[in-house]
Amino acid sequence: MNYRADVAIIGAGVVGLGVAAQAADKGWEVYLLEKNETFGRETSSRHSGVIHSGIYYPEGSMKAKMCVAGNSLLYKICEGYGIGNRRLGKLIVATSDEETEELQTLLERGRRNGVGDLSLLSRREMKELEPNVQGVAALLSPSTGIIDSHALMKYFLARAKEGGVQIVYQTEVVGIEKMAEEYQVTVKAGTGEFSFMARTVINCAGLHSDRVAELAGIDIAKVGYRLHYCKGEYFSLSSDKSRLVKRLIYPVPPPKIAGVGIHVTSDLEGRIRLGPSIQYVDSLDYAVDYQHQQLFYDSVRRLLPSIEYDDLAPEMAGIRPKLQEPGGDIRDFVIRDERDRDLPGLINLVGIESPGLTASPAIAEYVVSLIQEHLAE
Ligand SMILES: Cc1cc2nc3c(=O)[nH]c(=O)nc-3n(C[C@H](O)[C@H](O)[C@H](O)COP(=O)(O)OP(=O)(O)OC[C@H]3O[C@@H](n4cnc5c(N)ncnc54)[C@H](O)[C@@H]3O)c2cc1C
Repeated sequence: MNYRADVAIIGAGVVGLGVAAQAADKGWEVYLLEKNETFGRETSSRHSGVIHSGIYYPEGSMKAKMCVAGNSLLYKICEGYGIGNRRLGKLIVATSDEETEELQTLLERGRRNGVGDLSLLSRREMKELEPNVQGVAALLSPSTGIIDSHALMKYFLARAKEGGVQIVYQTEVVGIEKMAEEYQVTVKAGTGEFSFMARTVINCAGLHSDRVAELAGIDIAKVGYRLHYCKGEYFSLSSDKSRLVKRLIYPVPPPKIAGVGIHVTSDLEGRIRLGPSIQYVDSLDYAVDYQHQQLFYDSVRRLLPSIEYDDLAPEMAGIRPKLQEPGGDIRDFVIRDERDRDLPGLINLVGIESPGLTASPAIAEYVVSLIQEHLAE
């Protein structure tokens, strides 16, 4: 490593890797710094693996724009580079008249967000597609799918390496200090600490991104960057039930809920998984509480009545880096150059929860445009 970078990216999750891949062919000296022993050890390996279409998010929000753009970019990347994926389609299923009205709202919002292929299905039409699903109506999203997210990260990593990005594991960023034109970035590696200079610093630190922003002197309480951990557990469904559904099956999310509701997804091997639940927590503990099995069973049997309690088994959990407080309003992704806080070239990405995996290639393009703007000044 020489000790002067154009771009220092903090965090090798799917977002940091995406940015590194996109920045790799620009002729910049780029470092990607990761505190763990390898890439993708945190949220980017603990999710539903769904390529979302962009239905849920408020019109004009970063989440909506980045999700819709990311959806088509991801399918192109998958096709071009042989990354495992399946465009399964998804049904959001209403179980009451009230929920049917909500489907109409979701349809209109989705269309305004640019999701052009949505359609409302009657009970009969829904049953033709998914005979085992119970409900009174459904919204069909054909462009929702699933992806091998590990293969996506490996693809981003390979592109970054080919383009000369220096990837440094077991290296934690512990200081960011604004100097005249650049930032002094201090890292802890092994038992030692050392510093280097970077013209731009990109904070892709996921669950720790609020603290990384704080390192640069940002008052995270004042600017609203404090993250709340929100755990999502998953239960798997026994293999003899794996043919119950062909598509991803979601409930209608209640208003202000911090997620999209416990849903039914499958992985590329066809195994069915239920989740994620929603529970605000204080620490990064990924254990699944088997006592939550009843909650999962009750949520899912509304949509799939032939499931039995003993078909479920605890599987894994992920933790969302949420800006939304418990019971608070939905918050958008923060992706911004902090020039108006006298920190030009510090680009913070905070609150990159779902649909962050889907959005990752679009976020990467946007972040690289911000880097380009800064370096051109
Ligand atoms: C339960 C759950 C379900 C989800 N389902 C979906 C889904 O179906 N579809 C979808 O699109 N999205 C989904 N998401 C969201 C998606 O998983 C995330 O948005 C995405 O993985 C975030 O990636 P990231 O790179 O920002 O963060 P991470 O993967 O957390 O990466 C951040 C990295 O930064 C490193 N780091 C942190 N601090 C430092 C430091 N000081 N120095 C060096 N390195 C540091 C960490 O070690 C980590 O490797 C889900 C999320 C959860 C929790």
